Amino acid sequence: MDNCIFCKIRDEIINSKKYYEDDDFFVIADISPKAKKHYLMIPKNHYKLLEDQIENDIKVLGKMLNTLPKISKQLGIEGGYRIIINQGENGGQEVPHLHIHVLGGEKLKNF
Ligand code: 5GP
Ligand code: ZN
Repeated sequence: MDNCIFCKIRDEIINSKKYYEDDDFFVIADISPKAKKHYLMIPKNHYKLLEDQIENDIKVLGKMLNTLPKISKQLGIEGGYRIIINQGENGGQEVPHLHIHVLGGEKLKNF
């Protein structure tokens, strides 16, 4: 997608430190952190909603969730974390490229 900020970060048109990267997804710090540590896990394939997933996207999302505990120490969130996926207008999704928010690095307030 030409005008997508996360595609531009993926392609390094916009610079953002990648804390983790493999063939399928990458991890950056959120520019406006809502917790001491706030990362975004972003699949390399551009799609907006869970309902837009094609078969490989489902595998990648599973891999992202499986990888997170393995990199939690290097991200400084080994004490626990919260994951959030905002979806669509009512979900407050601002960037139309699916991403998982990962919040941690401190004791988070309950909902
Ligand atoms: P959403 O509301 O779509 O679930 O979350 C989008 C997130 O992307 C927001 O938390 C926002 O702070 C973050 N964000 C927006 N633009 C940029 C950017 O250019 N760089 C980084 N690192 N984060 C961004
Ligand atoms: Zn994109």
